Amino acid sequence: MLEPAYQADVVVVGAGVAGLSAAHRLTSAGVTTMVLEAAHGVGGRMATEKVDGFRLDRIGQLLSTAYPELRLTPGLGTLVLRPFAPGVLLYGDGRHHRAGVQAGTGGARGALHAVRALASAPRSPSAPRPPRRPVAVPGRQVSVPRSRSGAPLGTAVDQARLGAALTRLAGTPAERLLARPELPAGEALAARGLPARTIDGFLRPLLAALLCDPDLTTSSRCADLALRAFASGRLCLPEGGAEALPELLARMLPAGTVHTGVRVTSVATTSVTTAEHGEIRCRAVLVATDARAAAELLPGLRVPEFHPVTVVHHTTDEPPGTGASLLLDADLGGPVAHTAVVSQIDPSRAPAGRALVSSTVLGRPPGDVDTAVRMHLARLYGVSTARWETLGVYRTAEAVPAMRPPHDLRRPVRLLAGLYVCGDHRDTSTVQGALHSGHRASAAILADLGAGRSMHVADPVPTVPRAA
Ligand SMILES: Cc1cc2nc3c(=O)[nH]c(=O)nc-3n(C[C@H](O)[C@H](O)[C@H](O)COP(=O)(O)OP(=O)(O)OC[C@H]3O[C@@H](n4cnc5c(N)ncnc54)[C@H](O)[C@@H]3O)c2cc1C
Repeated sequence: MLEPAYQADVVVVGAGVAGLSAAHRLTSAGVTTMVLEAAHGVGGRMATEKVDGFRLDRIGQLLSTAYPELRLTPGLGTLVLRPFAPGVLLYGDGRHHRAGVQAGTGGARGALHAVRALASAPRSPSAPRPPRRPVAVPGRQVSVPRSRSGAPLGTAVDQARLGAALTRLAGTPAERLLARPELPAGEALAARGLPARTIDGFLRPLLAALLCDPDLTTSSRCADLALRAFASGRLCLPEGGAEALPELLARMLPAGTVHTGVRVTSVATTSVTTAEHGEIRCRAVLVATDARAAAELLPGLRVPEFHPVTVVHHTTDEPPGTGASLLLDADLGGPVAHTAVVSQIDPSRAPAGRALVSSTVLGRPPGDVDTAVRMHLARLYGVSTARWETLGVYRTAEAVPAMRPPHDLRRPVRLLAGLYVCGDHRDTSTVQGALHSGHRASAAILADLGAGRSMHVADPVPTVPRAA
């Protein structure tokens, strides 16, 4: 049991990546910190379930190597990121097309605009018979798009314009993007001077996947930041599952810092009350929960709308031939926004001889989501999915806070001296945003407390179990 009168300098409420990264910065500065987490493990939304040797993420995680906080957050130095194949693979007009390949990442020469049709997929949605040969041969160009329309990316000139636009975006400082006029992303795209085909065939499905927002109501500034990260980095997954990131942060904290199974019921500037251990006194409190829980603890804090996300995991012993690609549907012909054979990207996620296919459905899922997803996947991968085994279907109604315009990317993290808040709802609704909000909040706390030394004179470390 915790001593009711136990004191730490800072109590952090919530062991998601925002709270854990803030705790890391605080303890590194010599500030005694206690992280209280209501669940029985750390990680919050970045949870990974282990089922029969598979590692199943509740979230269809897409990280970017260009997320600055993955580099800047202390403790993440040994995080292994597994990259997707360069760019994305688009299914459109009955074929696969590789798009958005950066220079120097294994394909295009000198530009972002390499587009290659890798092979034909079956034409009829109702005839998902597997083709004799793989739908894509990694590293081998089979043909260039030959359809009259050049769908889904338009003509060679259209593609060159897209490449130039992405190259420009990659080189534009974030602050310049944040000074642009702000519109819903879908409306802003139309004003960019790009052909409708490029927008509908590539940018819409890509942005929907990156923002978890199928209707593109997100602020155009956030959309620009997401596209910039795409254009200047590589999409990737954490090796071992989404939980690898928060678990690494938790492991790097001093022993006894994280206490799981402790729900905070109220907060003040100098104490928190817990359901299990009564009051804990401290010099500052950082609320690092999701937006809804934060508003319960801090009445008056705004609760945003959320984008629901469903992730469906299948296994098969005959992996489709798309290699390590992220596959998007340019035709928007079904519920799946993006899918990948994730065991090809991160082999640790599936036992030997099995492939793990993870697919993400944005918005409200259809009634029989598994059947609808299987039918769509049969078309996207060009194989029969009838014998694929379903490993898990994870629905998260409040997955990602909506970032409609006007969206403040730097919501205040210091509410009062002694009371702070962080989490993805204070920044962008991404792992980058959550980590960055933790960065800002810990800086504000250290400034108020007087950085560099502990205010708290030793009390015994409480004997509640530490998170695994
Ligand atoms: C399905 C899905 C898909 C996503 N896809 C992507 C993606 O592709 N790319 C990307 O960058 N991001 C993605 N995200 C978003 C990303 O996962 C989140 O932005 C990030 O994990 C948020 O971290 P956090 O620390 O702010 O909050 P959380 O992870 O929500 O952590 C908050 C913690 O607070 C705890 N808590 C709540 N109330 C209390 C209380 N009263 N007392 C104690 N503890 C409490 C919770 O249990 C939780 O552990 C996705 C999220 C979901 C759900």
